[in-house]
Amino acid sequence: MSDSGSASAAAGASSSNSASSKTSAMAKAFQHLDLDGHDLPPSPAPSSPRSGRRYALATELVFTEGSDQYNASSVPIYQSATFKQTSATGGVSNEYDYTRSGNPTRTHLERHLAKIMRAQRALVVSSGMGALDVITRLLRPGNEVVTGDDLYGGTNRLLKYLSTHGGIIVHHVDTTDPSKVKEVLTPKTAMVLLETPTNPLIKIVDIPTIASLAHNANPTCLVSVDNTMLSPLLQNPLDLGADIVYESGTKYLSGHHDLMAGVLAINDPKIGEKLFFTINASGCGLSPFDSWLLMRGVKTLKVRMDTQQANAMLIARFLESTGFKVRYPGLKSHPQYELHNSMARGAGAVLSFETGDVALSERIVESAKLWAISVSFGCVNSLISMPCRMSHASIDEKTRRERGVPEDLIRLCVGIEDGDDLLDDLRRALVQAGAMNVSLDGIHAANPTLDIQHPPEGEHLAAKAAAINEP
Ligand SMILES: *Cc1c(COP(=O)(O)O)cnc(C)c1O
Repeated sequence: MSDSGSASAAAGASSSNSASSKTSAMAKAFQHLDLDGHDLPPSPAPSSPRSGRRYALATELVFTEGSDQYNASSVPIYQSATFKQTSATGGVSNEYDYTRSGNPTRTHLERHLAKIMRAQRALVVSSGMGALDVITRLLRPGNEVVTGDDLYGGTNRLLKYLSTHGGIIVHHVDTTDPSKVKEVLTPKTAMVLLETPTNPLIKIVDIPTIASLAHNANPTCLVSVDNTMLSPLLQNPLDLGADIVYESGTKYLSGHHDLMAGVLAINDPKIGEKLFFTINASGCGLSPFDSWLLMRGVKTLKVRMDTQQANAMLIARFLESTGFKVRYPGLKSHPQYELHNSMARGAGAVLSFETGDVALSERIVESAKLWAISVSFGCVNSLISMPCRMSHASIDEKTRRERGVPEDLIRLCVGIEDGDDLLDDLRRALVQAGAMNVSLDGIHAANPTLDIQHPPEGEHLAAKAAAINEP
C-alpha cells in the first residue's frame, strides 16, 4: 500500500465490488515490479480500461461506469485526505488510505482518460509541467535528451534547469527534420521529447519516423510526446510509436481555463509504475476537486473542439485570402500539410500569422474586442497574443531570432463563439490598426506578408462557405 510504509500489500486485492476478480488479476499483473531497487508501492486501482466494447470517441468521452454505492451520475468528490482502515496492521484492507497515494475521484478520472487516450494507464497530476517533471525524473545524470528548438517555454525552462543542475545533456535540434534528430541520437539518448504542432510556429514533427530512429539508436529510449496542442480527440501519439504521452489538462481537456492539470498516459505498465512512484513520492497527484472539474470538462471535448476547428479554418482562410502569411496545418499551403494529416484527425484551433510590423501587430492585438489578450489556449473563448511579447518572452531575443520566431507574429487561439462574429471582430481590428486597404474590390493586407498573389476577389467568401462544412 501507499503511505503507511507497508510494502507488502497488493493493490486492490480485497476489492469487494463485482470487478474483484478482474482487480485481483490486475494486482497480480502489477505485482513485484521492483525496478531499479525501488520497493514500489502498487498504485490503487491500476485498472486497464480495455475491457468490454469500445465505442466511438464521442461516446467514450461521455460514457462512464463507476462503482459508486449510490450510482451517482456524476462522480462524487472524495474530499478526504485519509481513508479509515479496517485492520490494525495496515494490510490490504482498503484500496485507498491516503490521498497523495490515491483517491477514488482521481482514479475515476484516470480510468476515463486512459480510455480516451487509448492507453493502458493514465495518471493525473497538478499541471502540465508537473507531468513533464514526473517524466524527466526517469532520467539520471549523464543521460541525453533530444528535443526540439521551438518548444513550449515552460518545457525549455525545466530542461535548462535539468541540464545545469541535474547533469542531463539536452540537445535542441530542429525536430521537423528527422535527419537532424538522427545526427544527435546515440545509445546514450535516454529520452526524445517531441511537441507537434509546435507553438507558435506551428511546425509539424514526424512522430513515427523519429520514434523508430530513437528506438534503433537505443531500444530503451523513451519517446515522450507533448500532445497538448491537439488533445486525444485529434491525435494519439501512443499509436504512432511514442512510449509516453503527456498533456496539459489546463488546455483543451478541461476547456474552460478554470483549473490546472497534467495528464500522462502509457501502455507499458512498468513505465506506469515508475511514473506513479514519483507522483506518490513527490505528492503532485491532482486534487479531488480538480479531478472532478477535469472529468466534467473532458466530456465536452468533442463538441468544443469541433466548433473551435471550424472557426479556426474560417479565420485561417480569411487571413490567407487577404494576403497574410498564415501558419495552420488545416491550410493546404502549410508545408507539412500531408505529414500532419497522416498523423492527426484534425488541425486543431491554434494558428499564427505575420503582419510584417511589430507595432502594427501590437495595434491589431489591442484593437480586438472579442479576442481576449491572454496567454494559453484551449479555452471556450477566443484569445489573441503576441508570443514574443508574452508566452515566449522568457526566451531571449537572440534565441528567438535563431529559431526563426518572427517578432511580429500574432497567435490566435480560436474559441466556440459564432464564427462570423469572430471574423467581423478580427476584420475590424485589422482595419482599425491600419493593416488593411479597403477598396472597391474588397479588403486586403496593406503590406502582404504572403509571397503569393492575392487570390481572386470573392475567394474568401467561398472559403468561408467551405469552412463551415469542414470538420
Ligand atoms: C500549457 C502547456 C504546457 C504546460 O502545461 P501547464 O498546465 O500550464 O503546466 C506544456 N506544453 C504545452 C504545449 C502547453 O501548451
